[in-house]
Amino acid sequence: MTRAPKSFTVRADRIPVGGLDISEVLSVEFLSELVFEGSKPLTWQAVEGAEVQLHLMPEATMIRLTGGGKFVMATPCIRCMHQASFAVTLDFNTRLMPGQAELEADGTITLESFSDDVPVQEEEFVVSYYQDGIIDISALLREQLFLDLPDYPTCCELPAVFGAEEMLDGKIRPFAALAGMRSKLLGLDN
Ligand SMILES: [Zn+2]
Repeated sequence: MTRAPKSFTVRADRIPVGGLDISEVLSVEFLSELVFEGSKPLTWQAVEGAEVQLHLMPEATMIRLTGGGKFVMATPCIRCMHQASFAVTLDFNTRLMPGQAELEADGTITLESFSDDVPVQEEEFVVSYYQDGIIDISALLREQLFLDLPDYPTCCELPAVFGAEEMLDGKIRPFAALAGMRSKLLGLDN
């Protein structure tokens, strides 16, 4: 079953020189489709809709993406299996570049442009690629959500019932041995 989310894309050539502001309210359904992983038994789903405020600004051969939004996603806790919610605030600072194939065909920039002899800005940013002149905002949101959501989502602490002695099946009791040593040392002190 294919559950491709409704596309949320921007054509690169429609971004004016002065930049483009995008304000979009994404529904629970849209966001749930976005993070749905059909192959996994424990998938994420959106708890509420989200308003995203994005700004796209042309910068030389790249397009800078800033802005973001707040998302609340839920998935079963890997320990207790109860549904656990996690809030994630995305704050993009990404430079979008035409995909590799387009770079070579176009010939305007190459990866060598980023070699050591070119001054690099101190500011850190992420570079992402887009294909066929289409910036897929859904894909960028999805990738960033999965980067920011926990890999091992838990809502509760691991029960502290596993003492060292229980784990060692009663055969070796290191704490008992230590206790014995302590008694001996105390005995010497007396
Ligand atoms: Zn839990």
